[in-house]
Order: sequence, then structure tokens, then C-alpha cells
Amino acid sequence: MSIQKCLNCGKQFLWKEVQKAIFWGYKPIECQQCGTKHTVTMKTRTLIALFAGVTVLIVDFINISLYLDIILSVMGILSIGLLYPFFAKYKVRLKIK
Ligand SMILES: [Zn+2]
Repeated sequence: MSIQKCLNCGKQFLWKEVQKAIFWGYKPIECQQCGTKHTVTMKTRTLIALFAGVTVLIVDFINISLYLDIILSVMGILSIGLLYPFFAKYKVRLKIK
């Protein structure tokens, strides 16, 4: 597991940069060195959706108190946020003319 590099110049993206991008709804990441824009792949979006879905299912399945339910849900969301930069895959955004 490693954080994505720029596909054009190979510059390593920062954890902070990638993480910020998810909180703005899969915002494209722009390489600070060469300016190439990268968008998240469909596979990454699917993984996030699956992970969120599984978290909800588990919380639902163990049928705990509402209080714990909320804590577990928040922890699930936080872990997505923390781990996201490590498994998110980006591709170069094609220029639309
Ligand atoms: Zn670059």
C-alpha cells in the first residue's frame, strides 16, 4: 500500500492532499509539480461504497444500542478518511475539448 504518485512526472502526492480530495466529493487532484489533473478511478469509488455498506451492515447486524451504533458509524467513516489515501487509485484526467 502506498500513496499514489503523479502519473506524468512521478511526484508523490501527499497524504493530506489525497485526503482533502475525498472530503470534497472525489475532487480531482492536481500535481503541484507539473499540473496534471488526476481523477479517482471507478474501482476506488466502488471500494469506498462497499466498505461503507459493510460497516452499516455490521452495525445493523450486531444490533447494539443506538449510542454504540453512532460511535461505530463515526469510526467507520473516520477509518475510510484515514486509509483512503493508501488505497485510492487515480488516473490522468483526459482533456475534454
Ligand atoms: Zn506531476
